[in-house]
Amino acid sequence: MIESPLLEKLTGYIGGRWTDSAQGNTFDVYNPATGEVIAKVPSMPAEDIEAAIAAGKSALKLTNPYSIETRRKWLEDIRDGLKDNREEIGRILCMEHGKPWKEAQGEVDYAAGFFDYCAKHIQALDAHTIPEKPKDCTWTVHYRPIGVAGLITPWNFPIGMIAKKLSAALAAGCPSVIKPASETPLTMIALFSLMDKLDLPDGMVNLVMGKASVIGKVLCESPDVPMLSFTGSTEVGRKLIVDTADQVKKLALELGGNAPYIVFEDADLDAAADNLIANKFRGGGQTCVCANRIFVHEKVADAFGEKLAERVNKMTVGDGMNEGVDIGPLVNKQGFDKVKRHLDDALQKGASLVAGKQPGELGDGLFFPPTVVLGVNRDMCCYQEETFGPLVPMALFRTEEEVIEAGNDTEFGLASYVFTADAERAQRVAAGLRFGHVGWNTGTGPTPEAPFGGMKASGIGREGGLEGLFEFVEPQTVPRGF
Ligand code: ADP
Repeated sequence: MIESPLLEKLTGYIGGRWTDSAQGNTFDVYNPATGEVIAKVPSMPAEDIEAAIAAGKSALKLTNPYSIETRRKWLEDIRDGLKDNREEIGRILCMEHGKPWKEAQGEVDYAAGFFDYCAKHIQALDAHTIPEKPKDCTWTVHYRPIGVAGLITPWNFPIGMIAKKLSAALAAGCPSVIKPASETPLTMIALFSLMDKLDLPDGMVNLVMGKASVIGKVLCESPDVPMLSFTGSTEVGRKLIVDTADQVKKLALELGGNAPYIVFEDADLDAAADNLIANKFRGGGQTCVCANRIFVHEKVADAFGEKLAERVNKMTVGDGMNEGVDIGPLVNKQGFDKVKRHLDDALQKGASLVAGKQPGELGDGLFFPPTVVLGVNRDMCCYQEETFGPLVPMALFRTEEEVIEAGNDTEFGLASYVFTADAERAQRVAAGLRFGHVGWNTGTGPTPEAPFGGMKASGIGREGGLEGLFEFVEPQTVPRGF
């Protein structure tokens, strides 16, 4: 069992108190590196979710709103708490998710960055007056908190994903009911341990854990929750759209991706390979922004494949708590089996193995070696579906038009990447790709400073940047006549 000063309580958190009425109904949290159960956390019943919403409602202040200074202080305090506890939170995160501990600590810094950004830009949410006087009016635009928000997060960035949502919700003055993924509730409990010591109003942040269907139903059906912010699969995103349609709830959805990574013949191949390694193997390839289809110009395919294989063969797979590990275990058996199925399918349909192991050589446990296959096409599962693992599938292309079309040949539109030395071509390709993020000669992902989100089936809304800051407010216009 995991021990930590940040995990002294393993319960929900409602109205400023550690509490739940699960009465011993729990679910297990595993360390994916060892398969051991490291904690048991409550599976909270519907009445707890309702209590959390009621607590949130009591913390919402409309006629006497929390000032900008007060909200900025909350954000700065959480930022500082994360920075001061980056090692311990990183350790907890590593143990329940599996990603290498250094990467986990980096995720804590990344999370702190969102609170910092919102604290520094919160003034943008202040009311402003429009100088024109149509019909002899002056118009004041207020940014009102939308109300109690349901924040539902996935397991792949246990602290990063909640930071994006919670920073913007608190900046707006919105109380929240937070549901972490069942695989990674401990990092969230650690965050609540920090917040418990801060001067946040009771009910401003509430933690619920348990069955997704139970929690999702209450959040979708409650008229007291006007907004849901969700990061996860497109399948669940679609369900939330349907289940909230009656109430016309505001939804912010960050859903699946199927990122193209395009390497033109004039690209710096070393840079393209280095960036691909960093992009693809972060979190063991279990991120929605990681390259999922690598399109390489046929003239440089062999050279690029060699550079990639050289780098991949030097990577170490193992328990993320150990020094020098680059890739930890996959989060669960279901995830492992999916990557294996994609590899198997690609090889059976004619792709060739450039680096890694044959499916039959994979060992027990959740450790999947970094794997590169060449000769991928659109009939293969790894081209059509998000693999969510350390498999690099390479396809060949000849022309710019062809690769833009191939890149867009997916219902998703989250992240994409283009490597070329030609600036004009980069501009054309970026404009042609229907993705919310197009890295040019970089595999970098989202940052607190810039809006990030998906087109098409990858979602609705943005996180980060001023756009993310404005997600949890309702603009209200107050024209004043004379
Ligand atoms: P992943 O494939 O990353 O696990 P999911 O979409 O299944 O993605 O899960 C993302 C988050 O959504 C998790 O916290 C999960 O428990 C939650 N979730 C899953 N189903 C529902 C649902 N019906 N309503 C609300 N939340 C859900």
